[in-house]
Amino acid sequence: MPQELSKIQKLQKIQHPAHLEIELFCKGLKIDGSCELEKDGRAFSRTRAGLGDGLEIILPAKEKDIWLNAPVFEEFVSKSPYLIFKENGEYKILDEINKITYPVKLPKTPSWYNKKTKRGIPMSQIGVLQGTYLGIYLGQTCKFWILENPVNCKFCTTGLNVGANEVEEKETEDVVEVAMEAKKENKITFVHFNSGWQSGKDLDIPISYIKALKKEVGVFVGLQAIPSKREEFKKYNYLKEAGVNHFSFCYEFHNPEYFSKICPGKEKYISQKAFFDALEYTSKLMGKGKVSGEIIAGIEPLEDTLRAIDYITSIGAFPTVCIFRPLIGSEMESFPSPSSEDMLKVFQHLYYSMRKNNIPMGIIPNIEVSLVVNPDDTKYLVPRDLNWYIYDLKLKFLKFFAKPYINKELKPKNN
Ligand code: SF4
Repeated sequence: MPQELSKIQKLQKIQHPAHLEIELFCKGLKIDGSCELEKDGRAFSRTRAGLGDGLEIILPAKEKDIWLNAPVFEEFVSKSPYLIFKENGEYKILDEINKITYPVKLPKTPSWYNKKTKRGIPMSQIGVLQGTYLGIYLGQTCKFWILENPVNCKFCTTGLNVGANEVEEKETEDVVEVAMEAKKENKITFVHFNSGWQSGKDLDIPISYIKALKKEVGVFVGLQAIPSKREEFKKYNYLKEAGVNHFSFCYEFHNPEYFSKICPGKEKYISQKAFFDALEYTSKLMGKGKVSGEIIAGIEPLEDTLRAIDYITSIGAFPTVCIFRPLIGSEMESFPSPSSEDMLKVFQHLYYSMRKNNIPMGIIPNIEVSLVVNPDDTKYLVPRDLNWYIYDLKLKFLKFFAKPYINKELKPKNN
């Protein structure tokens, strides 16, 4: 237990944990010697783009728990005023500046992380839980990393993880087996496939996995892949028929200069416009709230991030906003982590844009993404006026009427 604790005085009112979520994403979390994370917490896991390599924690809140993957290894964390410690068997976070403590829960490592598939592959190298959903990288290492002159995105570490911390080219039966285990043990409702650039095969690779999950497991399926050429947009229709419930597009930056500078491969081989075209096409195809534009906040000017949010919501999609994390090993590892004040503005703006455009959020149960501030966490960041309650009521109705659809999707088609 940290010594300062004996002097703690509650000097100010504790904020909603959604505020703390933003603070922790921006400033990180120091670990006190009293913690026994190997025994009590979820194993650290550096897979996919590398964002999930922090500590998975749950901030209990009255309406719903807030999940996040708190940065713990990056350099900026050493200056954080937040410290996690264990006292009488319970975990808490101390805000060393305001002398406030927050209760916190640690999710357990799923028991299937230590199992192998029938083919002998460690299950943790097939998929990982990121919050409450199962994340799986598909295909080979992103081709931007392995060209003679690599053009990978400068914030990313996928090229260091795929093939090292996770299996490259996963077999369908292994993916199904892992998803079944995660559904049985962790009650997952959502599997998210993502991939780096697969030089044109990006939309062909996922189809067999999606069909198998729908047939044998019964889960919602999301797909994040590099957009296809316009003349191949029909592939999105085939994927929808195969069972995709959600498409997402990581276009990262709204400002074209930042896009081209930080994502040179996407600029050279894909183009920012291709991302916009695919977003707009799939948003029409899928309907409101079933497509997301994924962006990174904290690198490009704040106004560009706000414009991105306005654009994405105006086409009926929802923004997935990732607070920039200067990952160890990435080209931007010494870049500063963003200010929590700016990030609060971003997520308040996200809430108001979602509300203005009547975008559904938080409809499917048990999807808590720990790598980002979930759109439905943002409602706790703004004052509650009449419009807040009206939107909230609409979402509750939608959730109620979506129940038969949700039950249908969660049933394996085999049954
Ligand atoms: S497209 Fe960019 S962010 Fe995605 S895996 Fe490749 S290098 Fe990383």
